Amino acid sequence: MLVLDGKIAAASVKELLKKETTDLAAKGKPSPHLAAILIGNNGASETYVASKVKNCEEIGFRSTLIRFPDDIAEQELLQTVDSLNKNKDIDGILVQLPLPKHISEQKLIEAIDPTKDVDGFHPSSVGKLVQGLPTFIPATPYGIILLLEHYDIPTKGKHAVVIGRSNIVGRPMSILLSSNMAKGNCTVTICHSHTPNLSEIAATADILVAALGKPEFVTADMVKPGAVVIDVGITRVNDDTAKKGFRIKGDVNYAEAATKAGAITPVPGGVGLMTIAGLLKNTMQAYLNNRG
Ligand code: NAD
Repeated sequence: MLVLDGKIAAASVKELLKKETTDLAAKGKPSPHLAAILIGNNGASETYVASKVKNCEEIGFRSTLIRFPDDIAEQELLQTVDSLNKNKDIDGILVQLPLPKHISEQKLIEAIDPTKDVDGFHPSSVGKLVQGLPTFIPATPYGIILLLEHYDIPTKGKHAVVIGRSNIVGRPMSILLSSNMAKGNCTVTICHSHTPNLSEIAATADILVAALGKPEFVTADMVKPGAVVIDVGITRVNDDTAKKGFRIKGDVNYAEAATKAGAITPVPGGVGLMTIAGLLKNTMQAYLNNRG
């Protein structure tokens, strides 16, 4: 059984990006610059953004973190996005989700200039993705593709089952795996909360992607022998014995699934790290598109 190690795969993506950034500096060019907007004090969001900023630093990218309190007015946020859109020294813009209830996620996503949409959530990016045109791929599905590439996992002609249909993970993942590309060409089944016979469908998957946010949902009976299991889930589960008072759980019962899978991602140490690699790749792409 092969462990698909996100640390190793992300390190190799980051090494290449670091080299590209060094080459830019040698030519006297500025490095790519990511702007991240963080609203409120959500613990998980704080951790994700801090990690994105740290990863930028590691490879020589610049980053600017813009923080707002929970009660920030939507209009002020839209104005901030507008000024980042106009700022030629900013290559990529991301707004860390989730947002407070009074802010429209859709409005904010649509306010981002598609040429700086490094999260790939803008309808223009999604439309291009569906049509197989070059675009920014949402970071988590992109990271999974990079992981499949790193470990050279065959996908052509395989049956992929994606559990979850969110705009940021499940749906774009299903589109990518069915696309005519190197790590695509799968026959894809997408399952969601209204799928009645999900366990039986999952058990027919050569590639099983779990992205539903229900800790340890995927059990051994849902894994076909030899399947590639990709666990996207990240849920904080209270645990008084843990230092921080919680543990991170994936959507797959790792101990059970590992007894049947041919390859599997751990949580933590799997898809989460690849998501950042995907974001960094998108930021470099935005830089090259806009001022390369
Ligand atoms: P979401 O809540 O937006 O979507 C969950 C999807 O799962 C929905 O489409 C829903 O229909 C489906 N679902 C819910 N319960 C189900 C059930 N019982 N059976 C079948 N389908 C069910 O979540 P999301 O934003 O897509 O995130 C999913 C998980 O992935 C979460 O744990 C999230 O924290 C994690 N996540 C991880 C990363 C990463 O970098 N590793 C990135 C994004 C999200």
